[in-house]
Amino acid sequence: MSDLPFDVPTDLFIAGQWRPSSNGQRIDVIDPSTERVIASVANATVEEALEAVDAAAAAAAAWAATPARQRGEILRRAFDLMVRDSEQLAELISLENGKALADARGEVAYAAEFFRWFSEEAVRINGDLSTSPSGSARIMVQYQPVGVSFLVTPWNFPAAMATRKIAPALAAGCTCILKPATETPLTAYAVASLLAEAGVPDGVVNVVTTSTAGKIANAVLDDPRVRKLSFTGSTEVGRVLLRKAADQVVNCSMELGGNAPFIVFDDADLDVAVEGAMVAKMRNGGEACTAANRFYVQRGIADAFSQRLAERMGALKVDEGRLATTHCGPLVNASSVSKVASLVDDAVTKGARILTGGKRIERAGYFYEPTVLMNVPASATLLQEEIFGPVAPIMVFDEESEAITQANDTEYGLVAYVFTRDLARALRVSENVESGMVAINRGLVSDPAAPFGGVKQSGLGREGAHHGLLEFMESKYISVNW
Ligand code: NAP
Repeated sequence: MSDLPFDVPTDLFIAGQWRPSSNGQRIDVIDPSTERVIASVANATVEEALEAVDAAAAAAAAWAATPARQRGEILRRAFDLMVRDSEQLAELISLENGKALADARGEVAYAAEFFRWFSEEAVRINGDLSTSPSGSARIMVQYQPVGVSFLVTPWNFPAAMATRKIAPALAAGCTCILKPATETPLTAYAVASLLAEAGVPDGVVNVVTTSTAGKIANAVLDDPRVRKLSFTGSTEVGRVLLRKAADQVVNCSMELGGNAPFIVFDDADLDVAVEGAMVAKMRNGGEACTAANRFYVQRGIADAFSQRLAERMGALKVDEGRLATTHCGPLVNASSVSKVASLVDDAVTKGARILTGGKRIERAGYFYEPTVLMNVPASATLLQEEIFGPVAPIMVFDEESEAITQANDTEYGLVAYVFTRDLARALRVSENVESGMVAINRGLVSDPAAPFGGVKQSGLGREGAHHGLLEFMESKYISVNW
């Protein structure tokens, strides 16, 4: 269709073939900047999802037996191709997700890096060998691919969440079925097309889009050939899938929601803290699991920090994501705008003061003003839930222990941000804050070479680094007497 930056496949990708769904149904893809339909993709039936499992199962043995160097070189080609096509992929992401083009470019670079990183990790699958303490046997440990993997991804990083799973799965020797989010299916198909061009054999990567995610996930997870679920999305859906995965005792990696605290101490470098806040809050317009959700600022710096943050947020240009001048695009859909609006209204009703923003923008598309709220009371709902929008609630604290207690007062534990010039304090807070990741004096943690993931109800397992590869492998212990 003419709105798309290039000829993106829109049919199911099963066993290396592109095919429409047998029921003839399509799912519309909407540009959140304009509310216009930009394409439609096939709507898979349960039978087609199971055909994708057939294809992944049929390709599994040969792919696992493919030399690691060869698997790595295919992934490396996928990296090169993604870099080659980065500009048009960024335009596509911006179009179907709404994020500003600069954010989309950043995402493509990040997404491509997973192919490069895991192309290198594919040849570093080491086991170990030791002698049992009794001296009676050698303990040999080998790593083997876990098997057919079901990958379910969200709409907020449509390229990176797919490559963060596909790359380690393929490096480990697993075949997979990817089920992307309904809001952003086009990027997933574009990535599948690149992988085919890179030389991934038929059936190793399959992609199905559906309007009935629950039905398809149930059928796929009921199939005993599927041995791995790797899910990124909300904690709510994660819990449902964990329960379902229990039926066949499927190995699970879960990257779930976050509620990141952003702690600024009096001695922080104000420029660094404000810059970090803009990155941690506004990457993807706030639609990131790592988004700073609660700002705890020590009393001595609170006025200066909040004033500077409000100035920066108020100066952002909010417009269609694809325009080069845009800093902040729309939210992904109408219900996201309603959710953000009701969270802000609730906080204001309970006593928060608006420093900037505070309302939806009346125009076509799903826009909300970049917003800073001051003195948000502990009872405000937005301190307990992911805001997933351009809203920064600020609270003032006095003591370090108070900041840590408040930071940990959540069921989530993905990432925390700490700003101080005192290294001992930074490390003490890092050790005491309940999160899988901590950023000290910076607003970004995502790095393909680092283990990304959360504690508490933010998830299980890690993606990226060597840890991400091991999520797609199982150890086999061989007891040897020689
Ligand atoms: P979501 O509603 O949980 O959806 C995620 C994926 O699960 C989509 O593909 C969705 O398909 C699918 N899904 C929905 N219901 C399902 C069911 N019953 N069975 C199987 N699959 C189902 O999350 P989202 O709104 O797309 O993404 C935002 C969430 O992702 C936030 O909570 C964010 O924090 C989290 N996230 C976490 C990380 C991390 O690394 N920890 C990274 C990015 C995002 P449909 O689109 O068809 O509904």
